Amino acid sequence: MTTEKVDVLVIGAGPSGTVAASIINKAGYSVKIVEKLKFPRFVIGESLLPRCMDALTEAGFIDAISEKGFQQKSGAKFVKQGKICDFTFAEQYTPGWQWTWQVTRADFDHTLAQTVEKMGVPVEYETTVTGIVFNGSDSVTTVEDIHGNKKQIEARFIVDGSGYGRVIPKLFNLEKESVLQPRKALFAHTNDVRRSMADEPNRITAVVHDKGVWIWIIPFSTGITSVGFVGDHTFHDKFSGTQEEMFRAMLASEPYTAERFKDVELIFEPRKLEAWSATTDKFYGEGFVLTGNVTEFLDPIFSSGVTLATVSAQTAAKLVIRKLQGENIDWEKEYMEPTMQGVNVFRSYVMAWYEGTLDTIFFSKNPDPVVKAQICSVLAGYVWDQSNPYVELHATELKRLARKIELTEKLGSLS
Ligand code: FAD
Repeated sequence: MTTEKVDVLVIGAGPSGTVAASIINKAGYSVKIVEKLKFPRFVIGESLLPRCMDALTEAGFIDAISEKGFQQKSGAKFVKQGKICDFTFAEQYTPGWQWTWQVTRADFDHTLAQTVEKMGVPVEYETTVTGIVFNGSDSVTTVEDIHGNKKQIEARFIVDGSGYGRVIPKLFNLEKESVLQPRKALFAHTNDVRRSMADEPNRITAVVHDKGVWIWIIPFSTGITSVGFVGDHTFHDKFSGTQEEMFRAMLASEPYTAERFKDVELIFEPRKLEAWSATTDKFYGEGFVLTGNVTEFLDPIFSSGVTLATVSAQTAAKLVIRKLQGENIDWEKEYMEPTMQGVNVFRSYVMAWYEGTLDTIFFSKNPDPVVKAQICSVLAGYVWDQSNPYVELHATELKRLARKIELTEKLGSLS
């Protein structure tokens, strides 16, 4: 078996792997990415958040992405039985990016991988990590290509950005169950011929359907729109037939999607994903760090996935560089805590969404503009700004606000 040597081995060429690889490579270390699939490859996660633009900028990816002409996104809209709550990122509380993109991930991820290759990081496609042996922080990783050829890669450090592959947690039994209830999604890309300017292609729309069920509508610049139904099994079990039959029946089951997507052409057979929430006890160990989805993936509702993936990769990459320079890193304090801060804030919002707390807030009769701007910052991904009470007190403040709104509206209806 042949053996190669690099400073840093990155597993996975998704957003987290490529961001980490680019930043470490820029610091002068040799980096290699191994990627199980051939790119472009399909992956879901098409609506980005403004906060990820900071990480994409530091990785040097913004120009290459801009050239692709993806749909710009400047807000997020929530719709429930004719009521609308519209967030515009330009009106957010935390200073920062006020827009981002809605992307077809096959093209987006391919662009990141090609850009990092141009920067000098080799990406070895159709190459799967099958085993890792650590010797202190040094490691020997066994990889196998699609022809069954095996080789070893010696590295001083590993960044695991393998997403749903969860390579290191699976190899070393670090898997832990998420506290979130398992949910399913059925989704497709549609030829959105009835899209009008009123449907605002520059934002994601989340339509509240049944209790605990919602629909994402993510328009792309090509006229294609991604549509997905998310709910627990009781909703999905109501539909039968092929995936296409179920998807069309779901579209017909909600008045807005029934009209806009009636008989719409589907670009691919609808796909199903389920039970995606997962986590691990620790996001680091001697000789490795986990980034992106491998750390914790929550739920699609607030489009947090790519932002947490790129921001965790950005943080991890800088720590890896300092570690390679000989510094002693306090991974718990400098990596685990800030990463969990982002995850915990989004988890509170995901729970508040499914419990109905955010329904009360989003569709209240007289929203307070200051509070709306603060919540808007969370929806833009600025979940590390402790000066924002809806970040700092995320676990309690949403419930308190919802109770206040309920009381005010009740008193208003009595007077
Ligand atoms: P990935 O993008 O999954 O990349 C990991 C790469 O690692 C893959 O290319 C994979 O092939 C490779 N790999 C895996 N195993 C191995 C191995 N053994 N060896 C080598 N390579 C390997 N996020 C958003 O930001 N916005 C959204 O609108 C959104 N919608 C979503 C909807 C649903 C239904 C779900 C389930 C998720 C959604 N997400 C969304 C989350 C998003 O998909 C992920 O958070 C994001 O892709 C994570 O990026 P990553 O780089 O960590 O992993």
